[in-house]
Formats: sequence, structure tokens, C-alpha cells
Amino acid sequence: EISVSGANKRFGDFAALDDVSIDIPKGSLTALLGPSGSGKSTLLRSIAGLEQLDSGSVVIAGKDVTTVTPQKRDIGFVFQHYAAFKHLTVRKNVAFGLEIRKKSKKEIDDKVDELLEIVGLSGFQSRYPSQLSGGQRQRMALARALAVDPQVLLLDEPFGALDARVRADLRTWLRRLHDDVHVTTVLVTHDQQEALDVADRIAVLNKGRIEQIGEPRDLYDRPANNFVMSFLGEVS
Ligand code: ATP
Ligand code: MG
Repeated sequence: EISVSGANKRFGDFAALDDVSIDIPKGSLTALLGPSGSGKSTLLRSIAGLEQLDSGSVVIAGKDVTTVTPQKRDIGFVFQHYAAFKHLTVRKNVAFGLEIRKKSKKEIDDKVDELLEIVGLSGFQSRYPSQLSGGQRQRMALARALAVDPQVLLLDEPFGALDARVRADLRTWLRRLHDDVHVTTVLVTHDQQEALDVADRIAVLNKGRIEQIGEPRDLYDRPANNFVMSFLGEVS
């Protein structure tokens, strides 16, 4: 589904991505795991077509992202600190992408009802973002990203700013959501436990390079090198 090959990205003489290649299968939930500064967000933004690579390519469903106009990229993106429209209700926030695509009122109403149900915010649709908890706001962000039926869902530490207990709940919830919706998902996290709990596959990044890609069990049982072993070993 998503194929990154030979991706290089420098900021000045610093290599944020150093010859990164990864194939992300359709319908999978893949975690990009690594310490701060390892290039996770840069890789995710490159997949979204928001970052221009110095060399290499990103192909999604057979199309090079750089040749597709942003509106047609069919990508849902959720950031760590989600920027919601403060002056719009939860319902309007979720409906936003459908309205700019000029969907019919009925289609929008049905889709938004369905999504609010899925993310557990049916009772909150008339509230404003400021009247939600952090976890509820991130679930609204996910509903909004899913509203336009994206081909891929890109999540950059969506639960990073929340406290540990809420984070653990949302993790379980994200896994269930993914099992229902099956959209190809890439989750950026620096939290080993989060990656091990929710992902089908994990790519471990370090200093702009991918150290290992595999199923959680494989990484844990057969780490490719000392970095992967000690980084995964930090699970509490
Ligand atoms: P974190 O977990 O802290 O979010 P990350 O793995 O997402 O880290 P990136 O944001 O991808 O890391 O950044 C990788 C490296 O590239 C960092 O050293 C960062 O300082 C650098 N970098 C990222 N964006 C820019 C930029 N626009 N200009 C200069 N350097 C940048
Ligand atoms: Mg980041």
C-alpha cells in the first residue's frame, strides 16, 4: 500500500532521514518507534507529502505522493496537539472535510452520526472543543480524519500529551477501531509499550535510519542489534 524507498532528507548538513526504505502493507497498523529526534515525524510527514525529500520516493497505492495534489492525497492526519476549529462544535468539526467536499446533507449527517458513535462521542456533538477532555479531543480528531474515508491514516503521537491511564485506554480503543475500520495506519510513537500493544508491525528508527522492521514478537525475541535490544528493553 505505502512504499518508501531510499528516502533521504537533510536539514542543513544534518541527515533527518538517511536512506530509509519501508513497505507498509494495506490494512496494517504499523508503528514508527524511536527516540526523540530519530526522524519519525519527518518520515510521517514525507509519507503525507508534507515534506519534500532530497532523494527517494513515496508511493501510495501505486501513485507517487509528490505528483498527487494535496486535496487528492486521501490521507487522514492527526497531530500530537490537535488543532481543532475552536469556534465549531464537535459535530461541525467532524463534518468539516465532508462539507468542503460538497457532500449532500443526508450523507454528511449519516457519516457524522456513524463516526461519533464509533469514537464514543455521540453525547458530545453540540459541545465545543474547549469543553472536551484531552482524550475526547483526540478521539474527535480521529473521527475528523476518518470522515473522508482516507486511504491511509497517519498518526503522529496522537496520545502523547495525555496522562498514562488515558493513553492506555485510547491505545486499546485505537486497536479496536483499527480492527473495525481496517484503514492502513501509521502510528508514530516513542513509547515502546504503545507500539508493542497496538501495532501489527514495528519499524524502529534511530538517527534517521531504520534499525529493524518486524512483528512485535520478532523484535522482542530477536532484536537485530544492540540499539533495538536496549531500546525495547526500556519497557516498564
Ligand atoms: P520527537 O519524538 O521528538 O518528535 P522525531 O523522531 O519525530 O522526534 P523529527 O521531528 O523527525 O524527530 O526530527 C528529526 C531530526 O530532524 C531532529 O534532529 C530535528 O531537530 C530535525 N528537524 C526536523 N525538522 C526540522 C526542520 N524543519 N529544520 C531543521 N531541523 C529539523
Ligand atoms: Mg516527532
